[in-house]
Amino acid sequence: MILTITYTQPPATDLGYLLYKNPSRPQTFELSHGKAHIFYPEATKERCTVALILDIDPIDLARGKKGSSGEGGLFDYVNDRPYVASSFLSVAMSRVFGTAMSGKSKDRPELAAMELPLQAKITMLPCKGGEEIIHRLFEPLGYKVAVEGYMLDEKFPEWGKSKYYTVSIEGKVKLRDLLNHIYVLIPVLDTEKHYWVGEDEIDKLLQHGEGWLINHPEKGLITGRYLKRKKSLINQAFKRLVEDSGVIDEEDEPDQPSQPQETEKKLNLNQQRLGTVVAVLKSVNAKRVIDIGCGEGNLISLLLKDKEFEQITGVDVSYNVLERAKDRLKIDRLPEMKRKRINLFQGSLVYRDKRFSGYDAATVIEVIEHLDENRLKAFEKVLFKFARPQTVIVSTPNKEYNTHYSNLLEGDVRHRDHRFEWTRKEFETWAAGVAESYGYNVRFLQIGEIDDEFGSPTQMGVFTL
Ligand code: SAH
Repeated sequence: MILTITYTQPPATDLGYLLYKNPSRPQTFELSHGKAHIFYPEATKERCTVALILDIDPIDLARGKKGSSGEGGLFDYVNDRPYVASSFLSVAMSRVFGTAMSGKSKDRPELAAMELPLQAKITMLPCKGGEEIIHRLFEPLGYKVAVEGYMLDEKFPEWGKSKYYTVSIEGKVKLRDLLNHIYVLIPVLDTEKHYWVGEDEIDKLLQHGEGWLINHPEKGLITGRYLKRKKSLINQAFKRLVEDSGVIDEEDEPDQPSQPQETEKKLNLNQQRLGTVVAVLKSVNAKRVIDIGCGEGNLISLLLKDKEFEQITGVDVSYNVLERAKDRLKIDRLPEMKRKRINLFQGSLVYRDKRFSGYDAATVIEVIEHLDENRLKAFEKVLFKFARPQTVIVSTPNKEYNTHYSNLLEGDVRHRDHRFEWTRKEFETWAAGVAESYGYNVRFLQIGEIDDEFGSPTQMGVFTL
């Protein structure tokens, strides 16, 4: 990944003094996971640009388990970290531009204290939440923002856009502010960090956010994401941040983890659904359970409370979600006996995977509607043909019930990531077809309040061999 910073006020080569990096001398710095190279692609009186290139060694990453899920597996070797602007870049910035970030300059102190015409370009910045959020974060800081997006694959436009962007910002700012803005906002946009986020992270946020974070309209979002949505850290940081500034209004509250089924949550449907799953699992005497698309681990934490469940495995396609599950389950602090019963790994239910085999039961709760409909066939094979547990529990929203959600317009789905929602007839036809193809029996349960005409909010199929 490349970060460039351009200064356009003659003599522009003063940038070298401000950054303590001589324009005529390329330099390389050794970091714990690779190298940072500094050089100046242009250095004239009118325009001077410094480039910071980070060369991360993917093998080092995997060996040191830095930035890895800690569970091993393919993720350690196949991930975007060597190629994108991430917390590795922030760490490199503080290492290489540390003095400039603190606002000090031996040779040009007056320039260091002044707002200067500066531009920065961050290449391949992963951004959760789409392009709009980049504007929301940089524009209130006074930048003109230009964003270049990419297709996931130009040959397959139907796959849509990628989450990577090249971001250019331009404004009249102090160099130290520019550097600190970028330092903080890169991991905020990326939402990942390659190291454990603990209390010292609050100090870093407040130090690099000094003078600007308190006035930023998105300070809740920034604080929430920077501290990886750890509630206790966020609350502490927020308290310290606003200590001097008096009252906070509601809107400033930190951004808390979003709940996928916000619409349903009010009805406490989630608990009813998971309660039913546990009851069914007990009724078939399942000891070894795999929860595919486990999300933040709600079901896992319920199963863990019951000693009957000897082996509980959670799988999710999302690395972020698994990290949150680990946090929520407090995996690192569980007593050995409990810890041994849980296993979490990253995987997808549309790819055949040996690790899905050997369980008495598989649960796929509120997941299939997140798959593109044309991937369902692959999912069916992976689970019912190859993994083939004795019992499979699948749940999904019942579309007919959506008329009860007053905030949904006709045709809306309950969550923006749902690719489809089915009526009872559609679900039952699909499930009966699957059961027939793979030799299972299936029965159906309704979960939540039952409406005579429209059925219940959640529908569940219980498949048994
Ligand atoms: N089962 C959980 C979470 C439901 S949200 C619960 O009931 O609370 C849907 C989850 O499915 C998300 O965490 C999402 O990351 C995951 N998911 C989506 N596609 C997936 C796939 N192909 N393989 C595995 N998990 C997937």
